[in-house]
Amino acid sequence: MSETFKAILVSRDDDKKQSVAVAELTEADLMEGDVTITVEATTVNYKDGLAITGKAPVVRRWPLIPGIDFAGTVLSSSHPDWNTGDHVILNGWGVGETHYGAYAARARVNGDWLVPLPGKMSAHDAMAVGTAGYTAMLCVMALESHGITPERGPVVVTGAAGGVGSVAISILSKLGYHVIASTGRSAEAEYLTGLGAAEIISREELSAPGKPLGKERWAGGVDAVGSMTLANVLSMTSYGGAVAACGLAGGMDLPATVAPFILRGVSLLGVDSVMAPKALRLEAWKRIGSDLDLGKLKALSTTIGFDGIIDAAHDIVEGKVRGRLVVDMQ
Ligand code: NDP
Repeated sequence: MSETFKAILVSRDDDKKQSVAVAELTEADLMEGDVTITVEATTVNYKDGLAITGKAPVVRRWPLIPGIDFAGTVLSSSHPDWNTGDHVILNGWGVGETHYGAYAARARVNGDWLVPLPGKMSAHDAMAVGTAGYTAMLCVMALESHGITPERGPVVVTGAAGGVGSVAISILSKLGYHVIASTGRSAEAEYLTGLGAAEIISREELSAPGKPLGKERWAGGVDAVGSMTLANVLSMTSYGGAVAACGLAGGMDLPATVAPFILRGVSLLGVDSVMAPKALRLEAWKRIGSDLDLGKLKALSTTIGFDGIIDAAHDIVEGKVRGRLVVDMQ
């Protein structure tokens, strides 16, 4: 009989009521793919929280093993790029949404979706970064491509104490930017300055309805919140600046005007990690290897076990998680 392993499975009944349970599966139960991986570490991202709680329609195949990212070792491969024993990372590509995801001891995926684990990182380190951190890097790269340098002025980071925010602050400060962190959790001020934030502002300062054009306060922004917060970040961006938008923790809407775009030449840069092309992913992970302080990574991450995933999923959608959560699967 084949060996069984534990997996988290979200299911839906005939009335479309969602439930979540731990199931015993075998490799034969996994979906198609040309690489099978032993999952060593994974994470709980905001999107995983939405998938497990059912708070937003992330899951698009039933039943499904959630978990949008993992790091592990190749167990078997018929893909030309990968051999048994290779250390790999997966982020996105619909894994944990339409394809069985990370919350199981084994995963089987398309080898084109994998990237190599950067040299000096462990599986645990890579998942302390996770999709949230890799997205933060994509945001920083988007700002750089737009010519936003530390000399141009401060960069604001919203949802600062969350996963994207914490990693964005760490990277931006290492690159020499003056980082303004916006948080709803004033108790996390010391944590945020420890990561490299030069100034802390309250979430309320950006979430209340503001003017179409405000005082110019920053040259750039990394926004994980959306809604009124993003509108206000745009309205306070200085002439020719840019804001990288990647998240919707505060809402999906964008109650903004065109004033910052047409009167200040401000740019709104959309950032997607899920379908990002491989070349961009490789560049982002290479940059994470060089521009993220591993000491700070330890400070911003908390480790839990497989049994803690479901509770953590609820906590993250309630905004209770600080920094990044790493799930040790070993
Ligand atoms: P976290 O839950 O770790 O962080 C989100 C942070 O946003 C919270 O910590 C909190 O920060 C702030 N926040 C929460 N609720 C609200 C609210 N109602 N109003 C204003 N701020 C709020 O999530 P992640 O960092 O993992 O993800 C952040 C966002 O980015 C999510 O929307 C996620 O879906 C998105 N994302 C998008 C990706 C992409 O490819 N585009 C990839 C990865 C993530 P604080 O307490 O400091 O105020």
